[in-house]
Amino acid sequence: MAALQQKKVFIIDIKGDIYSCSCHNSTDKLSIGSIYEGIDYNKVIKEGHYPKNVNEYNDCRNCWMKYLCSGSCIAFKWIETKNTDTPSAYICKMNDAYWNCIIKLYISVYPIIKAGNNPNFNIRKINS
Ligand code: SF4
Repeated sequence: MAALQQKKVFIIDIKGDIYSCSCHNSTDKLSIGSIYEGIDYNKVIKEGHYPKNVNEYNDCRNCWMKYLCSGSCIAFKWIETKNTDTPSAYICKMNDAYWNCIIKLYISVYPIIKAGNNPNFNIRKINS
């Protein structure tokens, strides 16, 4: 869930400004440099424009989902809290619903799979 993009790519807008994430694209304040002046690594580190180990986020350390969520998306955190270290309450609630459903689904299909059967989900039945 967390910030895979910040580990692999940079985003460059039409003016040549560089961003750590497409969700920050063209928000001048969040630019981490430009193709003309290079990347401002001090800003990247100071403002946390990179994914950290989830245990480095104080608010995530005691969360039951920390190893599933990994501390969530930096952009979503900034959009809601103006801080890349502080989780978005909205995203945390969404993650809670998401992971609860995934775990319940896994628990319900695990015996079927373990018995060597195909759960054979019928999408038409689920959607009707
Ligand atoms: S759900 Fe929220 S508090 Fe929990 S690990 Fe993810 S961002 Fe952190």
